[in-house]
Amino acid sequence: MEFKALPINTTAQYLLNDSRQLSSPQRSIFFAIKGLHHDGHLFLDDLYRKGVREFVVETDALSPAILRELKKFTDAKIWQVEDSITAMQEVAQRHREQFNLPVIGITGSNGKTIVKEWLAQLLSNRFKIVKSPKSYNSQIGVPLSVWQINESHNLGIFEVGISKVEEMEKLEKVVKPSIGIFTNIGTAHNEFFSSNSQKIKEKIKLFKHASTLIYCADYVAIDEIIKTDFMVENPDCKIINWSRMASTGARVSWEIYNENTKVFLDLTAISPNTERFSTTLDIPFTDEASIENAIHCILTLWYLGYSTSDIQARLQILRPVSMRLEMKQGTNANYLIDDTYNNDLAGLTIALNFLSQQKQKQKKVLILSDLLETGVPEKELYKQIAHLVKERHLEQFIGIGDVISRNKNHFMASSVKTDTNIQFYKNTKDFLESQAIKSLHNSTILIKGARKYGFEQIVNRLVQKTHGTILEINLDAITNNLNYYRDKVGQQIKMMVMVKAFAYGSGSTEVANLLQFHGVDYLAVAYTDEGVSLRQNGVYLPIMVMNPSPNDFEQLVAYSLEPEIYSLRILHEFSEYIDSRNLSSKIHLKIDTGMHRLGFEKEALPELLKSLQSNPNLWVSTIFSHLAAADDADLDDFTRQQVKTFTEMANEISEALGYIPSRHLANSAGIARFPEARLDMVRLGIGLYGVAAKPEDQVNLQTVGTLKTVISQIKHIKSSETVGYGRKGELKRDTKIATIAIGYADGFDRGYGRGVGEVLVNGHRCKVVGNVCMDMTMVDITDVPNVQEGDEVIIFNKELTITELSQKINTIPYEVLTSVSERVKRVFYQL
Ligand SMILES: *Cc1c(COP(=O)(O)O)cnc(C)c1O
Repeated sequence: MEFKALPINTTAQYLLNDSRQLSSPQRSIFFAIKGLHHDGHLFLDDLYRKGVREFVVETDALSPAILRELKKFTDAKIWQVEDSITAMQEVAQRHREQFNLPVIGITGSNGKTIVKEWLAQLLSNRFKIVKSPKSYNSQIGVPLSVWQINESHNLGIFEVGISKVEEMEKLEKVVKPSIGIFTNIGTAHNEFFSSNSQKIKEKIKLFKHASTLIYCADYVAIDEIIKTDFMVENPDCKIINWSRMASTGARVSWEIYNENTKVFLDLTAISPNTERFSTTLDIPFTDEASIENAIHCILTLWYLGYSTSDIQARLQILRPVSMRLEMKQGTNANYLIDDTYNNDLAGLTIALNFLSQQKQKQKKVLILSDLLETGVPEKELYKQIAHLVKERHLEQFIGIGDVISRNKNHFMASSVKTDTNIQFYKNTKDFLESQAIKSLHNSTILIKGARKYGFEQIVNRLVQKTHGTILEINLDAITNNLNYYRDKVGQQIKMMVMVKAFAYGSGSTEVANLLQFHGVDYLAVAYTDEGVSLRQNGVYLPIMVMNPSPNDFEQLVAYSLEPEIYSLRILHEFSEYIDSRNLSSKIHLKIDTGMHRLGFEKEALPELLKSLQSNPNLWVSTIFSHLAAADDADLDDFTRQQVKTFTEMANEISEALGYIPSRHLANSAGIARFPEARLDMVRLGIGLYGVAAKPEDQVNLQTVGTLKTVISQIKHIKSSETVGYGRKGELKRDTKIATIAIGYADGFDRGYGRGVGEVLVNGHRCKVVGNVCMDMTMVDITDVPNVQEGDEVIIFNKELTITELSQKINTIPYEVLTSVSERVKRVFYQL
């Protein structure tokens, strides 16, 4: 076998970096990346067998075994590189160099995606735009975005994010922006930059060859670096900045009224040429971040030659950007993936990947509208879509719209044989009135349509109704937290993840499905029925059940669940069950090292070992124990003693058994604070859900859950009156009271009553007034401007944390999370 000479001259249409997302083997080039958690080289053989014939491999990863495998790829093209991500960037860079189109490059801490999406909305009447899908702005996301450029496009809009020094220089070459937008800079701590100004200096490298740069001068640190460094190095770059204060640049001020903001702009000085642009515009948003994003867009349109009246007309079409793929529970045992926003080919591919990832239901269905403004000729477009659909082996496909309907032949005729049920409807109304919508059941349904098709009506019809209170679960945050702990423990140590108690209130089947996708080693639940439910929803990972009972041994065995054995009683009962049916089973031995909950104590070991030796049908898969106080520094001596006792007892058991079961001891706090307790496997719990035992871990974890509700009614109450049961809500002033749709039956603890608890209304903290009721609570919104009935209310999120909430009512974050009752619907999302 010979490696092909560089550079990589690929004929593939898709750059693939994640083997799980393969859809068109013959048209893909696979970049094998050896990362911390995954090694793409382990999937080469699998991909070859599926038909992939172009591969990029990394020198360091070429073990003798991998080389032997590659030798068998006789009809494949293989390139060997130092680093596959860099190679992918170079491929994208050479692709970029073939096109001479203006490109807008966007970087900054916040708003990149919104500015990009808004610019695409605003400029779509004059340009054929290619843009980053979703927030594809990483070292891999950027080349994938740029790879989409083709002859039909005449404007590119790409966002770029970096997390380390030296990344931007590479990405600048891939994007080559002619117009730059620097949105803003946050203060968030980042371990890979020594200071905020270093971060700005790195980010600004994106604009090295730009001819225009737009930014807000009120970010003083950005302004300084642009003036002292950037303008010196790029004297020809035209600078368009704006400020609410400064006397140079564009002076901007605004006033907010109702649901609009009136923005006054006055651009008087622009270097190097002075031009004047002075106007007043209405934008359909009132929050500070949206106003800032809109001003960046306005200045871009002005620079591109739009007149004031054009800009005003276009601003009216601006809509909030939801980049989320939301997964909700539907009626008829369906799951809905709601992607009624994004409507291009790249977005479709991402959504289909997400659909394929869901194993909870057997059937998969796609409901798709016409795709608008893709820049791809109609025939070619629907041929590609038909191809994508066929490759995913969906059970059902429903196309809605005139254009997709007149292209139905592409979906019917295809060389790929499938038995997909394919239907077309002229419009959404026809589909809503059809039998087809009624017959959807037990399926995961991806609903994806351009805004004008009103697919929210389809979602409304199929979704399980909520009463305004929902718990949103951020699946990306779970992935982030999982990877953080994986990094911490390293590849050699296995990971068991606790999904007991409805995955700490976060939704066990959905969380387990995600963990399975990411390949964790083990799951654990408290009770057998929790494990059964996981099995019934497509989870095939090994599952340990911590508190099995003889009543459910039959289910335990039928669903291949593995019991924790913690006492002689349960051991005898289980072994009797297994023997009498001539079966065998894995078991997990729990020993008590100081927690004194479940587990064998030292004195019980001799009898335990005797029983095990006479029961060859039981295989001790692991030995474990639980730390009682790993999060408490005052009790570290106790914890160290537990580690010691555990190691001794585990050794004794292994010796007697004649084989060595793996050992695990550390929960989340143990993982963080006692590296010596990580042993062969760790048991991650609360950390996955975003709560850490150490502050330095906490900054790296992301908040998983956001609990929100709505305002049902607003009242103005005189100070002489009282509010709620028992007249406990006494008022010190005339008060504006909002009644919100959450009570103690939803998990909003009664302890928050009488001023103890707070909620967020439009970003303002509002105290609870009087007693919390079963289904409702009253809060003081006197100081909140612009509130209306129906507005959203945050109970907890990343600002008002479950840790803070738990402290207010003298409990722990675990209880706050797991108390959110099942009546509250969970919505899962991924960006
Ligand atoms: C719940 C549980 C864990 C996880 O604990 P966290 O503190 O949430 O990390 C680990 N082991 C056992 C036995 C548990 O019951």
